[in-house]
Amino acid sequence: MTAFIAPGATLGVMGGGQLGRMFVHAAQQMGYFTVVLDADPASPAGLVAHHHIKADYLDEQGLAQLMQRSAAITTEFENVPAAALMTLGAHRPMSPGAEAVAVCQDRADEKRHFARCDVACAPHAVIDNAAQLEAVPGHLLPGILKTTRLGYDGKGQVRVATRADLAAAWAALGGVSTVLEQQLQLAFEVSVIVARSADGQLVHFPLQQNLHRDGILAVTQVPAPDLTLALQQRAIDAAERVAESLGYVGVLCVEFFVLQDGSLVANEMAPRPHNSGHYTVDACDLSQFDLQVRTMTGAPLVAPRLHSPAVMLNLLGDLWFAPASSGQSTSAREPDWARVLALPGVHLHLYGKATPRRARKMGHLTVTAASAAEARSVALQVATVLGLSAF
Ligand code: ATP
Ligand code: MG
Repeated sequence: MTAFIAPGATLGVMGGGQLGRMFVHAAQQMGYFTVVLDADPASPAGLVAHHHIKADYLDEQGLAQLMQRSAAITTEFENVPAAALMTLGAHRPMSPGAEAVAVCQDRADEKRHFARCDVACAPHAVIDNAAQLEAVPGHLLPGILKTTRLGYDGKGQVRVATRADLAAAWAALGGVSTVLEQQLQLAFEVSVIVARSADGQLVHFPLQQNLHRDGILAVTQVPAPDLTLALQQRAIDAAERVAESLGYVGVLCVEFFVLQDGSLVANEMAPRPHNSGHYTVDACDLSQFDLQVRTMTGAPLVAPRLHSPAVMLNLLGDLWFAPASSGQSTSAREPDWARVLALPGVHLHLYGKATPRRARKMGHLTVTAASAAEARSVALQVATVLGLSAF
């Protein structure tokens, strides 16, 4: 058995975004002290943690302070430089480990890892140089060209139909390392969150069905309305094989496509809690953040249970701008929270970000209800009030 780090100790997190903020909330609820490392003085997690080290991820003094204060360390952001995680991991229990995070930081490595675990992913080719660009097989077009590193929320991606498009897109991305994926015919998208302890114990949440708009998650529904039990089990098995083979400790999310022919294809994974798992805070008896705390402290894992069907809506900065009416430019406004909060089963989560920007994740909202139909009906009313598209 791994030693249990009891409440009263201090837990550290690399990164101060909303995922770090919700981790801090979960850790504090259980009686832990928290410390966040993030250079931004107004970071969502830094605002609520007991200690905020305002330093860059590679700042030696910042990392030293984090280690000195923390009994164990986790990350809320997969693009924390692997070197920083290696340094931390050499001195403190670090979960997930630097090697596992490094695999998730690189789309090509990630796909190689899926293949090793016998998990199907989109047909693809790595394009790192002009020769590889030339040699791309025609069946990958039309496709999506993605940078191998640092992409999120649809950034660093270009849809390409022809070889000429592809060459132009690769040049526009700066000739960096990329992966061209065949554009697949999606029926719908799902994701699964698993947690693995240092002792190898594995638990999972039910699958969530996700709707993206402009490459950004917009709506998550649980239970997944279109998923069969057989497909659900295959996705869970696949995610558990991936976690197992990485020797993973922590919370891991794997995103899948369900194709129009019914097959299941892995898209990508995140070595941390995931936006599609935010519903677990309000709809499950243990949240993804509770499990992050448990995996890093060596606490026992118990299987989480969904107690209410749920619909999660992401709240992007766009909501803070009134749509332009004839001849007028857009103006700033506050969404009508009072009307939203008048609806039953609405849980509002705002991340404390001072400046709304279009496409910026400002918060989310989860609707829970006694039935999936009711949750969906209330979520559609919320969407109408806020001016979001129906789903
Ligand atoms: P995030 O990290 O926010 O999930 P990302 O920028 O890493 O996003 P992806 O998950 O690779 O982006 O893609 C974003 C969305 O684009 C997917 O959820 C899916 O809707 C669509 N998409 C990506 N790849 C493909 C593909 N090969 N075929 C069809 N659609 C795709
Ligand atoms: Mg994605």
